[in-house]
Amino acid sequence: MTAFRSHRWSSRFHSDASAMLGMCLAGVLMGGVVALPVFAQESAPPAQTEYVLGFSDANKHFIDVQLRCKSPRPDSCELMMATWTPGSYLIREYARNVDQIHAEDAQGQPLRLQKTTKNRWVIQGKKLKEITVNYRVYCREMSVRTNFVDRDFAVLNGAPTFIIPVAYIDQPIEVKVDLPSGWRQSVTALDSKEAGPAGIYVARDFDHLVDSPIVVGNPEVQSFKVGEIEHVLVNVGGNGLWDAAKATGDVAKIVAEQQKLWRSVPYRKYFFLNVIGESGGGLEHDESTLMLTSRWAFRRPEDYKRWLGLVSHEFFHVWNIRTLRPKVLVDYDYENENYFPSLWIAEGITSYYDDLSLVRSGVIGREDYFKSLSGQIERLEATPGRLQQSLRDASHDAWIKYYRQDEHSRNSQVSYYVKGAVVAFLLDARIRELTQNKKSLDDVMREVYRGYSGERGYTEQEFRKVASKVAGKNLAPWFDQHVDQAIELDYQPALNWLGLEMQGWGPSSDDGEPEDKEASRPITPWLGAKTGDDNGKLVVTSVTMESPAYESGVNVDDELIAINRFRVHGTTLERVLAQFSKEPEVMLTLARRGELLELPMVIRQKPKTASKLQPSQEASEKQEARLEAWLGASQ
Ligand SMILES: [Zn+2]
Repeated sequence: MTAFRSHRWSSRFHSDASAMLGMCLAGVLMGGVVALPVFAQESAPPAQTEYVLGFSDANKHFIDVQLRCKSPRPDSCELMMATWTPGSYLIREYARNVDQIHAEDAQGQPLRLQKTTKNRWVIQGKKLKEITVNYRVYCREMSVRTNFVDRDFAVLNGAPTFIIPVAYIDQPIEVKVDLPSGWRQSVTALDSKEAGPAGIYVARDFDHLVDSPIVVGNPEVQSFKVGEIEHVLVNVGGNGLWDAAKATGDVAKIVAEQQKLWRSVPYRKYFFLNVIGESGGGLEHDESTLMLTSRWAFRRPEDYKRWLGLVSHEFFHVWNIRTLRPKVLVDYDYENENYFPSLWIAEGITSYYDDLSLVRSGVIGREDYFKSLSGQIERLEATPGRLQQSLRDASHDAWIKYYRQDEHSRNSQVSYYVKGAVVAFLLDARIRELTQNKKSLDDVMREVYRGYSGERGYTEQEFRKVASKVAGKNLAPWFDQHVDQAIELDYQPALNWLGLEMQGWGPSSDDGEPEDKEASRPITPWLGAKTGDDNGKLVVTSVTMESPAYESGVNVDDELIAINRFRVHGTTLERVLAQFSKEPEVMLTLARRGELLELPMVIRQKPKTASKLQPSQEASEKQEARLEAWLGASQ
């Protein structure tokens, strides 16, 4: 059996992507406005596969799916279901949620349908013509890559929903949403069928279908235009806690900034599908993003800024990973892992630009931006795994590590989001310095986009070469140090170039003296273990590498009972530990697998990481000008 790979880029664009982008760029330069997208407009051939989605058991978390098609062969039809959702790199085995699957012919007579692999089926018969397959999908996983349905609304992704006849993967597909009473509409980036009632959509092929989540229910829809292109903010489940008009205004500013940055627009219309509830997260698509948002994200400014950061992140992906893809992702293998070491470019650089776009567009201030960048640096410096796993390896192993976090992950892994964003910041500053502010990472991204978008795709080495070309210097040693090796990063060159300083930087002294002498506050001794409550027991859930707990031999699942024979609970642990901050050693009493255990622990203070990034008081005029060039709006 050959795993399926798609070959459908030609149906998306009129011509090759670089020609299209050349046209778009010309539009920008001549007209001073963002160019309109160029998409295939010729009338599509008729759909080979039709689906009907039914919601009669929505309140029990089921959707009913009916698939109809002509049999590709007179004796058999093979069906396939994706095992993962593009953008979320873990095999999730969606076929496990499929129930009651059966097939019949045009006369309603049952056909023989057999499972052949974990995610494939074969229908067999004689003189097969039209076939119908009915199945149910259990939808109770509220995430941006899976399905959720209840009596109020449905959030459906393509990969966990549609079982596709393998022969028709490259062919147009029709989807009908059968609205239950009480639900007003469905929204998706798929095109509506030209003739026919609302709620019937057409996809160019399976890629397009998988790439177009569908929300159904009673969403609140706000439309706005940026650069003559329509954008839609769709709020599902806001319950009056959201100020949709304000959100729309801020989203429009972010869209305008990113259109200017990239100088081309590869979509026809864009949907921000914002499902408001108790979850979080976002996933990128060509012409939409599906975001899960806390219903409280609008009430406190810091939460709202985080939501704007999510919007900015997912929207940046329109270019960086949807249109400009790592070579491996140009044609997805929907049934197996697709390994690529350039994930840090797709996710880390996007994480750098998400908040940068917020400050450039003016929806957050510079102080907020510095706070967010300091936070990224602090998160990285607090992760012991940064000295164990390189950024390249973190990217490559996302499939087996990042999406499978456990108690050991912080010690053994580094996030390609976090380190990727920090490395992008350092790369940006390096290029600005090498070119005396004539070029930046913005130029690198545009250059890679121009050369490698669409069906060409880029390799990590090609990205490095373009960056070197833009910088006018071979950056291979720089990439080796920052991306290929798991070593400490040097922030000073970037800070010097931009006239920034980081207060509170560097490891604290280890001599037991209080660090904050002026305030004469007692130091907080560091345990280096996270704990959780397990039926009233204080249980260790993770141990940080090279921390006092780690070195004294504390294990995950140990129950922490006492410090120097004084009982500790979740609420008193820090206070009791602080009582002995001046003592060189304490005795921990633990229970391990039901047996009491005493371990001596040497008290230390937590190593201090970056605390505050800010413009230096002594910044020169030149440095101030560089800061302006970096944080000012894209031209
Ligand atoms: Zn992302």
